[in-house]
Amino acid sequence: MMNIHKIGMKLCRLCGKEKARGTDVFEDKIKGAVLVSIINKYFSKDVINVSISDTFSKYVCMDCEQKICSFDEYVQCHSTSKKSSENTKKAIKERKNSAARLVSSRFATKYL
Ligand SMILES: [Zn+2]
Repeated sequence: MMNIHKIGMKLCRLCGKEKARGTDVFEDKIKGAVLVSIINKYFSKDVINVSISDTFSKYVCMDCEQKICSFDEYVQCHSTSKKSSENTKKAIKERKNSAARLVSSRFATKYL
């Protein structure tokens, strides 16, 4: 029996694979709490609902941890850039309006 590779392996809650490196979300008070909040933010409660009282694995492997953290960063970065692109659009619209006013006032002086 080649069982040696199983040592230190834990079942990841997210990918369901056995991984040696990762975080026990209720043992690591800082990183674990962040992971639980990210998981509960993006996953439907019907799919994954991590709580200290459930019977499933409370372990998130390094790969999944990196994936969900970079996904969270991506979403936050996206929501900021959406806001700034709305500001840019608004600024362009205001510039167009003032250009239009300028043109119409020149037109008015010249022809009326
Ligand atoms: Zn995983």
